[in-house]
Formats: sequence, C-alpha cells, structure tokens
Amino acid sequence: MESISVLDIFKIGIGPSSSHTLGPWKATLQFLRRIDNRTNQISRLEVQLFGSLAKTGLGHGTDIAIILGLHGFDPVTFDIDKIDQTVQSVKTEKKLLMNGSCEIIFDPDEQIHFLKNEMLPYHPNALRFLCSLKDGSLIRETYYSVGGGFVVRDGEETGSNRENIKLPFPIESAYDLSEWCRETGLSISGIVTENEKAWRSESETRESILAIWKVMSECIYRGCHTGGILPGGLQVMRRASLFNKRLLSKNVYSNYEEWLNAIRDGGEGFAYILDWVNCFALAVNEENAAFGRVVTAPTNGAAGVIPAVLQYLVTFKKDPVEPVILKFLKTASEIGSIFKKRATISAAMGGCQAEIGVSSAMAAAGLTECMGGSVEQCLMAAEIAMEHHLGLTCDPIGGLVQVPCIERNTMGAVKAITASQLALHSDPEKARVPLDAVVKTMWETAQDMNSKYKETSDGGLAVNIPISLSEC
Ligand code: SF4
Repeated sequence: MESISVLDIFKIGIGPSSSHTLGPWKATLQFLRRIDNRTNQISRLEVQLFGSLAKTGLGHGTDIAIILGLHGFDPVTFDIDKIDQTVQSVKTEKKLLMNGSCEIIFDPDEQIHFLKNEMLPYHPNALRFLCSLKDGSLIRETYYSVGGGFVVRDGEETGSNRENIKLPFPIESAYDLSEWCRETGLSISGIVTENEKAWRSESETRESILAIWKVMSECIYRGCHTGGILPGGLQVMRRASLFNKRLLSKNVYSNYEEWLNAIRDGGEGFAYILDWVNCFALAVNEENAAFGRVVTAPTNGAAGVIPAVLQYLVTFKKDPVEPVILKFLKTASEIGSIFKKRATISAAMGGCQAEIGVSSAMAAAGLTECMGGSVEQCLMAAEIAMEHHLGLTCDPIGGLVQVPCIERNTMGAVKAITASQLALHSDPEKARVPLDAVVKTMWETAQDMNSKYKETSDGGLAVNIPISLSEC
C-alpha cells in the first residue's frame, strides 16, 4: 500500500502546472542526481516530450522547467524574478551550466523536442533524456509526471520509497479512514497527525504545514496586489487586484495582517464574503499563471481552491488561526491521498475533475472538520463536492493555465463551501452515495473520457475560441 504524506500532497513550487512544470522540473533534478559523476562527460543532451507534455508543454512552461532543472535549481527556493533572465540567457547563448558546475551546449529550440503525435503507454505525461557521453555511450532515461508534481521513473518500483513507510493507520479508501476514526475515536486530522509521525516528529510536521500556509497566504496577498496582463499572449487581465481595490476602496493597510482586519471590517454580507472567496482564488491562480510561487493543492492548476477556502475560514469564521490551519490542511490532504491512490489527480488522465474536483473535495472535508463536523460529515462533504465535478473536462485555451482554469478555481472553492454546509446540515447515515463510490465513478469517468478533454487542448474551449497557438 502506498503511503502518502501531507507534505507529498502539498508541495511548494512554481506555476503554472504541477504536472507540466513542477513534475518535469523534479524529473530533471532526479535525472541530474542519477548521472551526477558523469556530468562532465556529456557531449550532447536531448530532451523528448510526449503526449500531453508535448501538446500543452509550451503553454505550461515545460521547456522553462527543464532549463531551470538542468541548472540544478530548486523549485522551492529559486527566485521567481530570475526565471525570464535565466531562460533568455540560455536561449541566446545556447549553453548552460549543468547542475551549476559543468557547461554544456544546449539550444532549447533544437534540443527539447515536442513529439505531439507520440504517446508512451504508462502515462500521457512522459519525458525522456537522451544523453551522449564523450566515450560514445548513451544514457536514456524516461520519467512520467503523474500529476500533482509526483514523478515516476520508468523501470522504478511504482510509488518508489513512499511504499516503504509503515503507517500506524494505513489508509487506502474512505472506508478505511472512517473505520480507523471509529476505532480510535480520532478525527481525520487526528489520524493524519499520528501517521505523519512515521515520517518526522510532530513539531517538524507542524512547522512544515505552517510554512505551506505561509506560502499560500503570501501568494493570495501578492495576487491581490498585482495587476496587469498575464504572460502567454492570451491577453488575460488579472482581476484579483481589481476586486481587492473595489472591495477595500477606503481602507489603508500596509501588510497582510492589517489587510485581513480591513477585510473583516467590511462585515459578513453574503455577496461581500462571496466576492472575497472569489478574489482569493483568482489571486492564487493569477500568480500561478504568471510563474509565481504557489503550493500544489493537489495540483497547480487547482492551486487556488484550498487557499481560498482556508483564507475564507481564517478571515471570517475561526480563531485561533494556527490549529485551524493544521486541522484543515491535514484533513484535506488525506482526502487528496485517497483520490490519488484510487483514481487520479492528473488532468492528463482524468480531465479537470481530477484537479478542481479533487481540490474542491479536499477543501470541503477540511472546512467541515474545522466547522465541527463529524468524520462522516467530512467524508460526505468531500463526496458532494466531487459528485458535482464529475465529468469536468480539461480544455485550456492555447495550452495556457488561464482560461478556464483561473475562474474554475473560484467555482471549486464555492462548491466546497456549499458541500460543507450541506453536509453540516445533513445526516450522513442517510446519504445515498459514499465517498468511495464517487472516487470509483470519477476514475471510471476518467477512463471513458476522450483524450481531447484530458489536457491536450485538442477539444472543448481550446478549439472553439478563435486564437491560434502562434498568438500565444
Ligand atoms: S482546465 Fe482544469 S485541469 Fe485543465 S489545466 Fe485548467 S485547471 Fe488544470
């Protein structure tokens, strides 16, 4: 049984896509580690992209991620303001400092190949490194970016070392989770707290989760204060800063805390709170589309749903903040893990139901536990949120994570809040659809879905909106 930590589900990285940007970046770093002592023997390097990575990789920044990865840069700490300059320099000089130490000739236009008509059988997001060494030998390694920034190397034991961690409460399904909660009397977040001790101390987990929230909340704040047009050529206007300005026209503040107080001063009217939830989600995904620093939750395309719902909770609903953050993110992560194990969190495998649908289900469960819901109400909330995302396609215009992606995060957030409210005011004993049934349904729907709607930009809005890829 695969063991997935809360820190596997929530990963700090850079936009716009966990599967097409963060995953390939991490695969590149893994490749570098594997050829470490042979870096100075390289005579030529080629990178091949297959399937969805080839079809939407340009819009999703896959080439940029590979260039940054080849330098050995860490997506968690790399200064996002240096992305353009670094990539431009490689494109102009046609060389780079591999792993920060060894200069190689590398012309991205010639040496990164977008093989749009080729697909590898294991997963639609595949990339291959072909490395010729000076002694004439060839290294060939294939990696799969399987969604949410998770990477599998071809030939590697599936799930890698995550399988080796023995958890006190192993969970494969919502049924298992519910049974452990019933047997122990623990909440979902309580079970996660115990399981996480298999990876690290409780205080380390606490610090790491709070660090994740710091990145999420900084992303919201930055997105609410950054205007202009998003990169990529679609001419998409950033709207979170316009919402923020309209909603806080008379307030003066100079930091995140003062900003929150200013928001709270505006009252609790339905439309006002709804505007803020939308604004928080827009802010994160505009940052994501602009290659900003975000947290996969569980993916980058859906990175705005969970921060928006959690920000709504800490702004309008709950004090003190820290226990709420820990409880919310732990519960949400367990729901995300179940979807990853029993279905998919990759849009290339399952369309947008696997991204926005899963993030909405995660947020719904997290919110429900924080609002005092029972374990069964949390599972019911997750089920309701996914039930109403079933069949949602992935059809990003121009292969960019902008339209419909950015607005779609507002929908995922609002559905999560609605699902939570429905569950909190319902008797889960009377629910007709258990969470495991909706996970199974989502997976079967994913398998039946035409590949046009699975992050290829070959169907849906991507072909019905009159723009050409050359515009982007
Ligand atoms: S349509 Fe949904 S799944 Fe596809 S890239 Fe956008 S957010 Fe991700």
